[in-house]
Amino acid sequence: MKIIKEYVLEQKNLIKKTVEKYHINKKLVIIQSVSDGATNAYVKGKCKDCDEVGIAHEVIRLDESAHDIDYLVNLIKKLNIDETVGGIIVQLPLFDGWDVERVQNAIDPRLDIDGFHKLTKFLPATPRGMIDYLKDNDFSFPGKNAVVIGRSEIVGRPMAKILLDLNMNVTITHSKTTNSDLRHYLENADLVVVAIGKANFLDKTYKFKENAVILDVGISRIDGHLVGDCENDVQCYFKSPVPGGVGLLTRLGLLKNFIDAQ
Ligand code: NAD
Repeated sequence: MKIIKEYVLEQKNLIKKTVEKYHINKKLVIIQSVSDGATNAYVKGKCKDCDEVGIAHEVIRLDESAHDIDYLVNLIKKLNIDETVGGIIVQLPLFDGWDVERVQNAIDPRLDIDGFHKLTKFLPATPRGMIDYLKDNDFSFPGKNAVVIGRSEIVGRPMAKILLDLNMNVTITHSKTTNSDLRHYLENADLVVVAIGKANFLDKTYKFKENAVILDVGISRIDGHLVGDCENDVQCYFKSPVPGGVGLLTRLGLLKNFIDAQ
């Protein structure tokens, strides 16, 4: 498997060439509500990615004391018909009590590059990033065993469906799966996708196949350091690191969705 950092760099170069070749000049609009350290870092990362590949971008910051959810929905409606806008991201979380689904469904599905609209044609960025990475590494899907740990709407469920569509035998496990069952499924897994947000949940007491590929989606913070859902040095064929793993693939998935939206 390619080193993710290097793979992402290669892919960004290809995206940059596409932007130049097709004169893509519409902008990505990111609407930010909450302004804490983590959210600011996510928005900054997305802007940096756009700069690197030559995509124009604008960040609109909301003020909780001056704006309400109707203001945000009206803003999105204006952006939907703005010819200069090529994609809209509403950065989560929203302010307390704001209805996330109402906001996400206000975005024109053709501009919904996060893939959260109920009529969206885009895959959410994390599954898209992971699937493209596996395909670009010639991972063989048909008839192989996948275990997806976690069943969220933005990672676990869409990922499981795509893997099933690629003819894998897919097992989804969740908070009610017994630990002995989980261990049993993992021992037979060719691909493990873990997305639960529990630091180092999979440790060296879990046994994996020699050829197992583990994609670690989870992000937790321990003493200021980012930690995944799986220890970085478990025995397997390949384990995506945290940091420098699925987070980068997700950002790449978002850029690709933006390009596809043009
Ligand atoms: P979530 O946080 O909404 O939900 C957690 C999921 O984990 C639930 O489906 C729950 O059933 C499951 N779960 C909890 N305990 C479990 C257990 N013991 N065994 C099996 N399943 C269990 O899920 P999410 O939004 O997919 O986020 C999961 C993690 O991935 C978080 O740490 C999040 O920050 C991270 N994340 C990272 C990226 C990235 O780009 N790297 C993208 C999205 C999410």
